[in-house]
Amino acid sequence: MKFSQLFLPTLREAPSDADTVSARLMLRAGMIRKLASGIYEWLPLGLRVLRKVENIIREEMNAVRGQEVWLPLLLPKELWEETGRWGVYGKELFRLKDRKDAEFCLGPTHEEAITDLVRRDVRSYRQLPLMLYQFGTKFRDEIRPRFGIMRAREFLMKDAYSFHADEKDLESYYQEMFSAYKRICERCGFTYRAVEATTGAIGGSFSHEFMVLAEAGEEEIAWCECGYGANSEKAECVKPAGSNIADAPQKPVQEIHTPGLRSVAEVGKFLAAEPASFIKTMLYVADGVPVVALVRGDHEINEAKLQAYLGSATLLLANEKTIIEVTGAPTGFAGPVNLKAKVKVIADYAVSCMSAAVSGANKQDYHLTNIVAGRDFTPDAIIDLRMVAHTDACVKCGKPLQFSRGIEVGHTFKLGLKYSTSMKAVYLDAAGKENLMVMGCYGIGVSRIVAATIEQRNDENGIIWPLNVAPFAVAVVPVNMADESVRRTAEDIYRQLRERGIDVLLDDRDERAGIKFKDMDLIGIPYRITIGEKNLKNNNGEFKARWEKNDQSRLIPIDAIVAETVAIINR
Ligand code: ATP
Ligand code: MG
Repeated sequence: MKFSQLFLPTLREAPSDADTVSARLMLRAGMIRKLASGIYEWLPLGLRVLRKVENIIREEMNAVRGQEVWLPLLLPKELWEETGRWGVYGKELFRLKDRKDAEFCLGPTHEEAITDLVRRDVRSYRQLPLMLYQFGTKFRDEIRPRFGIMRAREFLMKDAYSFHADEKDLESYYQEMFSAYKRICERCGFTYRAVEATTGAIGGSFSHEFMVLAEAGEEEIAWCECGYGANSEKAECVKPAGSNIADAPQKPVQEIHTPGLRSVAEVGKFLAAEPASFIKTMLYVADGVPVVALVRGDHEINEAKLQAYLGSATLLLANEKTIIEVTGAPTGFAGPVNLKAKVKVIADYAVSCMSAAVSGANKQDYHLTNIVAGRDFTPDAIIDLRMVAHTDACVKCGKPLQFSRGIEVGHTFKLGLKYSTSMKAVYLDAAGKENLMVMGCYGIGVSRIVAATIEQRNDENGIIWPLNVAPFAVAVVPVNMADESVRRTAEDIYRQLRERGIDVLLDDRDERAGIKFKDMDLIGIPYRITIGEKNLKNNNGEFKARWEKNDQSRLIPIDAIVAETVAIINR
């Protein structure tokens, strides 16, 4: 491609609402433009990268026997009602009506659509296993679209779905898919971790997220050298070896007047007590039923763990009315001792080891001290109920956990029977008996990968593409187009590289060399061949990788430069 013919509107400054390095660089490099909040246009340079990522993914999906399909974006409400997700998906779902008032949504994910397709055409165990995948636009009305294309409302996803005769077959296929995802991350040049994750709105029993390590990541992951990794919502806390309550001196519970003091911080200051000596008492309503959750004052409750334990479809913080009904006191004075109503009390492991705890007295303006778990109150269950903390150890090996920010680029789920049950996707086994299909689903954010790559690979001058996804592998830069022999040499190298199948960009503009170099650095082409009058007199061209400093460039004889460049690229 010749620069003069390329629609590549680079910018010196990014628009002021660009909120991450990748968003700024993609806009400046002329890869994307913003049409509206969370809605972007892909320009030729951006699309070249997107297509390269897409092809890597396609190759890896085909390698695990996937077959590509293309499903509609416009999906009828009836399908979504079969699984109940028309109701639970909430405001993220773009909904619309046709001229006859029939309701549709724009697909945010395609479990319903694919399960419908497969249940209509797969009858026999002989047709299983089956893996179908697609590249398609997804629509999600995100609460907070941000970070450019990273959290957009319209974006490109690869979604794959596998159908199996039994759990065992899903299990072994899941491992294959897991390896395919790892290869995708490696081919995209990522520093990443595959971590255990919660299943969220997609559902199912088990999932992994593929997290690209970057400060701009919206999620925090906990990981360990031993190989353990989980997103911080899913990360398990070590169960204390035993309780030390028996050894500790136990004083009687004491009621203290704490007028208007509600939070751990306020009461802690008043009593000169550490947060770790508090029991935080939280009230929730799970599927309409109030429950009490207890965590230590210096810990954070993990609502996902509570909900998973309760197995409830919904979990909401209780309102003031419920709090008064259950505790007998207004917000801020709840505690595990003397609750007014009979409710389920779930405590974190750490709470069950406390011997002189402070908590609310279930009485306005009063707290209790010297509370002993097991003596003064008995939880209905003692579980891992808190968020992992930065001081925690790895559940697998006991070494200190490490924490990083991560961008979720992919998510693999063992769905099990969730969709085949509600949508009746069945097959006949060898004995002619009807069975439910066992499913897996595997998403990857194709457009998000492009932004994540830039987050990991950039410097003050611009993007630094890894070769596998670079829009062009080589830039040929004649420093002066007016010089006949410079121009001819550059054009000749350009032509030869093209003939060898290399993606090459010739900067044939009548611009100063400085401007050309700046643009090439901004758009991040991995290798640059510069042809200038001085070097050409000695029959040399200058070769430099994007990640090398200017003084690291080297001279290569003109008649060897094409062969050497090809060798470096194919290395
Ligand atoms: P997130 O937690 O970031 O919202 P998710 O759990 O909703 O992601 P999935 O439903 O698992 O995401 O979708 C599969 C993949 O699609 C994600 O791993 C991510 O790479 C990509 N993705 C999800 N939402 C967006 C979005 N709004 N914009 C761009 N890519 C997205
Ligand atoms: Mg989401």
